[in-house]
Amino acid sequence: MTAHARDSQPERFLPPRADIRPTVIPPATFAPNVVEENLDRYGLLNWGGEYFSVSRDGHVVLAFGPPRSVPVAVTRIVAELHRRGLSPPLVLRFPQILDGQIKKLVTAFRTAIQEFDYSGDYIPAYPLKANQKKEVVQEVVRCGQPYDLGIEVGSKAELTLALALSHNPQAPIICNGVKDEAYLSLALRGKQVGRRVFIVLETLSELRRLVELSQRLGIRPRIGLRLKLSTRGSGKWEKSSGDLSKFGFTIADLLRGLSYLNNADLGDCLQLLHFHIGSQVTDIKRIKEAVKEAARTYAKLRTLCPQLDYLDVGGGLGIDYDGSRTASESSVNYSVQEYANDIVYSIKEVCDNEHVREPTIVTENGRMIAAPHALLVCNVINELTLLNGPIHVPDSDSRPQVIQEMYDIYTEINAKNYREYYHDVIEQRDEMFSLFNLGYLSLEDRGLGQELFWGVCERALKFAKLARHMPEEFEDLERRLARKFICNFSVFQSIPDSWAVDQLFPIMPLHRLVEIPDRKGYLADLTCDSDGKVDHFIDLRDIKDSLELHPLDGQPYYLGVFFTGAYQDVLGDYHNLFGHVHDASVVIDDSGQPRITSAVPGQKIEEVLGVFGYERHELLEGLLRRLGTDGAKQEWRDQLMREFEAALGSNTYPTLED
Ligand SMILES: *Cc1c(COP(=O)(O)O)cnc(C)c1O
Repeated sequence: MTAHARDSQPERFLPPRADIRPTVIPPATFAPNVVEENLDRYGLLNWGGEYFSVSRDGHVVLAFGPPRSVPVAVTRIVAELHRRGLSPPLVLRFPQILDGQIKKLVTAFRTAIQEFDYSGDYIPAYPLKANQKKEVVQEVVRCGQPYDLGIEVGSKAELTLALALSHNPQAPIICNGVKDEAYLSLALRGKQVGRRVFIVLETLSELRRLVELSQRLGIRPRIGLRLKLSTRGSGKWEKSSGDLSKFGFTIADLLRGLSYLNNADLGDCLQLLHFHIGSQVTDIKRIKEAVKEAARTYAKLRTLCPQLDYLDVGGGLGIDYDGSRTASESSVNYSVQEYANDIVYSIKEVCDNEHVREPTIVTENGRMIAAPHALLVCNVINELTLLNGPIHVPDSDSRPQVIQEMYDIYTEINAKNYREYYHDVIEQRDEMFSLFNLGYLSLEDRGLGQELFWGVCERALKFAKLARHMPEEFEDLERRLARKFICNFSVFQSIPDSWAVDQLFPIMPLHRLVEIPDRKGYLADLTCDSDGKVDHFIDLRDIKDSLELHPLDGQPYYLGVFFTGAYQDVLGDYHNLFGHVHDASVVIDDSGQPRITSAVPGQKIEEVLGVFGYERHELLEGLLRRLGTDGAKQEWRDQLMREFEAALGSNTYPTLED
């Protein structure tokens, strides 16, 4: 996984020459190719072309909304929120993208059903765990209404949400996860009042508990059984399937379960067969194999169990985060239509072969529905590099020998000797450390030595890059010399999967795309944690370990982290007490204008402290008590109290622009 950034940096475009000074020309007209180059560089059209684009003046724009309207720049929305007191970091949500994803999914299945003359139905379900935020779930439920979109839940808490939020009695509620009596009972009661609740069982003991309870309550359940398939998924999450997965019935247990149900006279309650091979399945082959295995099981079971009418294929439909359309971890080698075609066709083929009726197909696609709708906006607040331009070496005849030698290396290094000189300077640096620790070097000399060392490294790296094969030691060096862009956000709060499972998200500047980004570096967040960084970036052919960005120019510089709508909101945590960021929903209305439909301020310091058990009044009283009455002036104490209170009511992120 090495950097394969382009070898030859295109020249930075120059302002027009003074002697042919034109009237003021907007940048786009003299740098049209730069916009194209940047589109290519960040791959936007590959991964985000459906919903995002770049305008001629170099801004990322929303590419949805009514046809022929003027595209809306994301920075315009950011500016509007700023006026309302909400500045980055913030999350922008686009409900129209949720709608678009649901339509795309349903359309794909309807097309496949028609094409293959499939006689069963299709129902999409939204797994709540992908994103339980109110704005998201409400919108998904609303958009899904015409398709009887169901909700999949994995816990008792999620079931309470599903029961309260879905109004459509036709829309299924699919209950997964480990179920205690209260969970089972709540599900049964939901069924009793006419909701289409399926209880998907994962073990025989759960099945026994359900049978006992439903007999006691006199409520006949709709039962689903989760299958443990021998086919595994692919990609990062493949461990959630296969013979050793933590969930589901083996075939032997399935038969035991069925006879248990029959004995309890509940055989006709078994209506659904379920499986789930993991999230972000990168290879369509795995999905096909799993569907075939499950369809065969369904078909054979149906002859024993005539009420079995649903085959639920779980989630796993992936997102092409890097736009490469490959089976690499951040991508998928199939389209949504291919996914639908393969599922519908495989089930039909098996059912035809076994002469059984084709089931209603259910899918539970969380990532696919939710990921694209959210965009994290943060700003770069600083650039850090080990090198600060040319090194100033004061004249002196009495320089310590070690410093003099480093200086000579620095001035004499060239394309022929750079490897040798690089090794020499490492030796000199170690010598310098020893001398300093023994007290033989002044602070000034130590400082100069440090700068000369990094200066030699930089020069050596330049020569190494010109060589035909860059030696490995210089690749390490390149990483160590990389620039750091300090960004106003917390990886742990806003993109936890980037840290936890090295997931890649598309990241790019939201403006200035008429300029060539001539800096390369990685992103560091605000937390005091060496893991609080992003140093892997999408690329069509590889994974890059640095991102091309523009030099800071004193104006706010905004980055977008795209496709953060699935899983990140809920997995995020409070490292260094950075809380939830501001959160706004934006739609493009019929006249093509952006409308902010909701704007929820991020958590205040006192709210985050509250999560960990600190009450505001308790903190204020504590501080007041500790201040005492003597020592400092009353006026100073009052001032501290005022600022302390103001801080409790403020945002957890630094406000560095106005
Ligand atoms: C997590 C999960 C899903 C959602 O998976 P995605 O890959 O996000 O579509 C669906 N079904 C079950 C049972 C799950 O556990």
